[in-house]
Amino acid sequence: MNRQHSFENEKPTLYLVPTPIGNLNEMTPRALDVLKSVDIIACEDTRTSGQMLKHFEIESRLIAYHNFNEEASTNGILELLSEGKNIALISDAGYPLINDPGQRVVAAASGAGYNVVPVSGASAFLNAIVASGLVVQPFIFIGFLPQQHTDRLKKLREYKAYPMTMVFYESPHRIDKCLQDCLDVFGDRQMVLARELTKIHEEFLRGKISEILPVLPELKGEMVIVIDGNHEDYSKDVDMNAIMDMVQASIDAGLSTKDAIKEAAARTGIAKNRIYDEYHSRSGEC
Ligand code: SAM
Repeated sequence: MNRQHSFENEKPTLYLVPTPIGNLNEMTPRALDVLKSVDIIACEDTRTSGQMLKHFEIESRLIAYHNFNEEASTNGILELLSEGKNIALISDAGYPLINDPGQRVVAAASGAGYNVVPVSGASAFLNAIVASGLVVQPFIFIGFLPQQHTDRLKKLREYKAYPMTMVFYESPHRIDKCLQDCLDVFGDRQMVLARELTKIHEEFLRGKISEILPVLPELKGEMVIVIDGNHEDYSKDVDMNAIMDMVQASIDAGLSTKDAIKEAAARTGIAKNRIYDEYHSRSGEC
């Protein structure tokens, strides 16, 4: 076990400092104090963060913490901590670690007994979920879906039965493909697209997936997708193996898959969609 009393020891500290996701006024006084007080700021990109820090007149030394070489960067930061240096980890925008680098160094630094101290602040998923109007508790933050169509479908099928509201990040040039896949896998659920959060063009589109899809070509900027969870009643105790056997037997007897599923639904009282999804997830199709 490892207990950390953040402010009751003299150990070097790794601070996790969020930076604004658009509106620079969201930099908190505490975040500024920490960034000014540390010996070193580890960032993703020294040019991007250099500009932001210049705006706030912060002159602490900047080093790059690279996602693609996290091991070497982590070792470098551990060495600096061992020399007694206090370090702040920042990302280009929002919270470090939230779809940004930092996972490895936080695990390593806390594991080595250094203080790891989070500073409160901006993260795009929080703004999106709280203003979505969809149920907030429970929600699940998923971040980016896989870029490849088949991998994305596979992941979405895993999430399909989740009852909690889901939050995804997506880049603007893939948003149409991603939402189309969500519609194909989840059906036409309620969703919210939160765009350009905290910026002048901030916008929320709330509606069914099918209503938001046609508007996508007009939309630019950074986006968060929030999608309603699955509220089907899964409480009914169901022997899906037996139902799949029933479907297969009907297909073997000459019925089409569609009719076999319809018949199984009528015989068992289980929703046709549910049997359809189970059948196709087992056969590996959408
Ligand atoms: N660390 C960041 C955070 O805490 O939110 C996320 C970084 S991730 C590399 C970038 C993604 O976050 C974007 O593709 C978008 O989905 C989301 N994002 C970041 N800023 C945003 C904003 N102002 N409005 C909407 N989405 C944003």
